[in-house]
Amino acid sequence: MIPFSKPSMTNLEQQYIAQSLQNTLCGDGAFTHRAVEMLGSRLENPRMLLTTSCTHALEMAALLCDLQPGDEVILPSFTFVSTANAFLLRGAKLVFCDIEPETMNMDVCLLPQLITPKTKVITPVDYAGVPCNMDAIREIADRHTLYVVEDAAQAVGSRYKGKASGCKADFACYSFHATKNYVMGEGGAIAIRDEEHFKRAEIIREKGTDRNQFLRGAVDKYTWCSMGSSYLPADPLAAMLCAQLERFDEIMKKRMNIWNCYHTAFAPLEQTGALRRPVVPDYAEHNAHMYYLILPSSDRRNQFIASLQARQIVAPFHYIPLHSSPMGIRLGAKHSSLPVTEEYADRLVRLPLWTDMEQSAVDQVIDAVWKAVTG
Ligand SMILES: *Cc1c(COP(=O)(O)O)cnc(C)c1O
Repeated sequence: MIPFSKPSMTNLEQQYIAQSLQNTLCGDGAFTHRAVEMLGSRLENPRMLLTTSCTHALEMAALLCDLQPGDEVILPSFTFVSTANAFLLRGAKLVFCDIEPETMNMDVCLLPQLITPKTKVITPVDYAGVPCNMDAIREIADRHTLYVVEDAAQAVGSRYKGKASGCKADFACYSFHATKNYVMGEGGAIAIRDEEHFKRAEIIREKGTDRNQFLRGAVDKYTWCSMGSSYLPADPLAAMLCAQLERFDEIMKKRMNIWNCYHTAFAPLEQTGALRRPVVPDYAEHNAHMYYLILPSSDRRNQFIASLQARQIVAPFHYIPLHSSPMGIRLGAKHSSLPVTEEYADRLVRLPLWTDMEQSAVDQVIDAVWKAVTG
């Protein structure tokens, strides 16, 4: 069976984890500091905190936005549940925005009509590691004095107009979950644009205390300062991430080779209209997080998945749109209000792609895709 995803582990990860076990194990140890330094330089923002997950990074962002019950947050429906839960936990109202068919990202043209006096946050999601149209989102947010919380869970290493993904957001949230490009099992990070929010974030992340300042010697004891929780990962997980970040370019290059193999191999199938390939806009450089295909219909997509399954290949579809999920319906989202989301969620399928995937497996997938759509 060719699995959909598999983390890439080497002796380096093992060596760093073994080393970390000699230390105190708790959060914000030596490996966390190293990981944050490497992340800060890769993601071009020194105001970076390592978190227990991207879900928690999003929850921190929602806390930092100071949402009041009834405040509105605009987000796509075609996303992971955490994008929505983070704001729901703060009592905000979710306003779902449709996507553009080319990238499956938020359709920026629809934003003006969704903004009301209650709107406080816009939350773009960089699907498949392809950044959203951030200048347009930033411009609208600035005009209405809104926060931009970028769910860049899949976009570690992607670039927008030459700069690291997340650079235009007030808060950018990244994931190092085992299924992402760079992994620490469960983990994430938040990048913060301004210093005041960063200071508050350090406190929120440490149970509402100024323990970070205490550890730096800035205060002689630490105390309760604000509402907060525990969002710091244990240092052995940061050790795993350090090894992955040292392998940053190697991992990116291997994934990119596979992505490009798929993209070249399926060009003729796109010509005949048998399928559509992902579109990467001129402003974006992706990170080869995911390779997906758009089939002509939902039925054809489902036959495609079965056909690959019969050839021992796992090719899953992706999100059930949040607005049509049981929770979305309970929240009062109108069905059939997001036509592009509904249509494309039903036509999309993802192909196996992981760092150490052998060329023979890639070739096997390509062969199976050709047979599924032409045979
Ligand atoms: C993976 C993912 C998350 C959640 O990340 P965790 O680190 O598992 O919490 C959130 N949003 C998107 C778009 C994701 O792909």
